Amino acid sequence: MPLSTIKDISLAYGLNFYSIDKPLRDVLRFYIGREPDLYSIGAFSGTDIYEAAYRVDQLSKPALITWSIKGDRVDTVWLDSFERIIIEKLILDYGANRFPFNGGSWHEHFASINLIGDPGVGCILTISIQTAYTLYKYGGDPIRGYYRNLSGFSKPLMIGATWFTEIQGGSDLGANTTIADRVNGVWRLNGYKYFASGAGLADIALVTARSPGAPKGAKGISLFAVPRLRSDGKLNFYVRRLKVKSGTVSVPTGEVELIDSDGYIIGEPSKGIYYALESLMVSRLSNSHGAIGISRKAYFEALLYALERKAFGKRLVDHLLVQRDLLEMESLIEAGLILVHKATKEFEESKNDTPPYTSTYHYARLLTHIAKNITAEIASRVTQLAMELFGGVGFLSEYPVERWHREALITPIWEGTSNIQALDMLEVIAKKGAHETLISDMREKAKETIDPEVSRRALKAIEETISSLAFKDPSLIEYEAKDTLDTLGYAISVILLENLASHIGERRYSNIAKVILDRMIDKKPIPRLKQSDIIEIIGIGTITI
Ligand SMILES: Cc1cc2nc3c(=O)[nH]c(=O)nc-3n(C[C@H](O)[C@H](O)[C@H](O)COP(=O)(O)OP(=O)(O)OC[C@H]3O[C@@H](n4cnc5c(N)ncnc54)[C@H](O)[C@@H]3O)c2cc1C
Repeated sequence: MPLSTIKDISLAYGLNFYSIDKPLRDVLRFYIGREPDLYSIGAFSGTDIYEAAYRVDQLSKPALITWSIKGDRVDTVWLDSFERIIIEKLILDYGANRFPFNGGSWHEHFASINLIGDPGVGCILTISIQTAYTLYKYGGDPIRGYYRNLSGFSKPLMIGATWFTEIQGGSDLGANTTIADRVNGVWRLNGYKYFASGAGLADIALVTARSPGAPKGAKGISLFAVPRLRSDGKLNFYVRRLKVKSGTVSVPTGEVELIDSDGYIIGEPSKGIYYALESLMVSRLSNSHGAIGISRKAYFEALLYALERKAFGKRLVDHLLVQRDLLEMESLIEAGLILVHKATKEFEESKNDTPPYTSTYHYARLLTHIAKNITAEIASRVTQLAMELFGGVGFLSEYPVERWHREALITPIWEGTSNIQALDMLEVIAKKGAHETLISDMREKAKETIDPEVSRRALKAIEETISSLAFKDPSLIEYEAKDTLDTLGYAISVILLENLASHIGERRYSNIAKVILDRMIDKKPIPRLKQSDIIEIIGIGTITI
């Protein structure tokens, strides 16, 4: 008998998640003009990554090692060895974190995060590339060079981290109390970071702190790079404990104490909040791509089950309501997919921007806030429906489909909650005028369409939503912020799907645009497409139904 895998408990195990995901490949071609070769990551993702992340969740949590055998305080985390090998392979062999630095694009990096799907493993890559990006762009000597190890150009592989949240508040970074003092030309940090992903793994972390005399609130925040070890080889920060979490088990999240920790200032001290927010763009985009990856895995588990399981004498997939559920799931996934690649495209175009930034960066920020919320909602909904399609089996924690729903539930929380994204979206509209770029871009995109009426209605929804902000009471605008974000997000997706349909000559994307328009914007029932169109969409054009 071959050595065992999880193929007996997972239907999606063994799929190549890239070759089977035609929409992902179409969207990548649309945005970068070619189809990147992610087939080997796709195969890895459907086999070893899939199995390792499930194994860690069920059997093999990370463990904190506080003291070495020699009696030294070490504060490292022991990862499951299968997971450790996977992370090394992803960064060093597959180069998943190298794309943005070697002439590739952020689309390829984030498509890899989508394929990995797992938010724990994905988080370890994300905190590393986020740190690499910030050091590469704003870091000085001696810390800039770390970006090479963090993104897999040089060995040894290093892991990064971004520690901003403190016990009194994660949303309100202006409430940070960690102090950075400059003593004899060296910055020393003292404080306590309450949610610190990568604790015990990180070789270097980005840390927010304020220096004495800095203004109150977010404007007084500076950003520092804090290596794990001081120049004398002693620990530079301490891991107090690891959190016990309901998902994302494959990334350790801990509490970190900074006690006279050596820090290296990033850029200008007064611009720390801008650098922190810019690094959050990377993780928010990553979260969005990862959310679509989670949804995709849950979708395949459910679709394959629906193709086999029979009820009332026929396969689940032959029941109309099951087709409707799968159509809703697939349409949401593709709406989120195209939206977050659009946000990525604008981020890519603004990657050389620095504070105070251009309108392209503000537009990228607007789209990122929107994509973060929409994709998180999608992941929660799609994984919930996937569990439901499995019936009672879906609720059992012994099979992978249940895990996808637990994993999905982190996506609206970390990297800034949904409420915070909605408020930040309002801020970038009101203070930076990002809606002007949005409207002119969408007007342009709506011209290239298969079904002009669908694009026209979506554009109208965007224009009316934005213009209503001008005369509403501010408290009502705040109260409705998440609804505003939803309308804008889904309407943008509709226009982009129509645009894609017309660009590559495939009506299926126009059909999906219609589903999203009716269901998510006009709040009507899901439209009854032609049976052959439904079959094509739910089989995503690759699986025979
Ligand atoms: C698994 C995990 C890993 C994490 N890893 C990291 C990490 O590596 N680095 C890091 O810095 N942080 C990390 N975090 C922290 C995370 O980013 C925060 O938990 C999150 O940003 C919310 O902050 P909070 O928990 O302090 O909630 P709070 O800020 O207290 O918010 C509580 C609730 O109030 C709402 N709320 C707050 N302010 C407003 C407002 N003005 N209007 C409307 N609603 C509001 C929020 O939306 C939320 O629903 C992690 C969290 C988790 C769960």
